[in-house]
Amino acid sequence: MHEWALAEAILTSAKEIAEKENLKEVTEVNIRVGELQQVEPPILRFALSQMKTDPFTKAKFRILKAKSTLKCRVCGTTWAFNLKKLDKNTAEAIHFVPEVAHSYVKCPKCGSPDFEIVSGRGVWLENIKGVK
Ligand SMILES: [Zn+2]
Repeated sequence: MHEWALAEAILTSAKEIAEKENLKEVTEVNIRVGELQQVEPPILRFALSQMKTDPFTKAKFRILKAKSTLKCRVCGTTWAFNLKKLDKNTAEAIHFVPEVAHSYVKCPKCGSPDFEIVSGRGVWLENIKGVK
């Protein structure tokens, strides 16, 4: 259900931007979703299509993935986390419970499993396009 709340928040902030930029009609809304965020893009897309009103009636909603970056708490190394490098079951487990990542992922430099997620969580509005 949280995709619906998310869709509402996205539409609210997109509308504020559209008003600030004096857009009469919005043609494109680009949304970035962190790779480790528990969001199902098809559900989010559906929610957006059901909830959109003026000035989004003709807008295309694009949901893009954001890469995640991890940082080791022991040695400070940061590295890009790639879900595709993991086997499918592990990737699925991490997708649904990001905390699980700690049991599978280790620092490439010192091998410590103690790291923080620097980016890869959260949902944000990348930009919107429209006509004035
Ligand atoms: Zn380390």
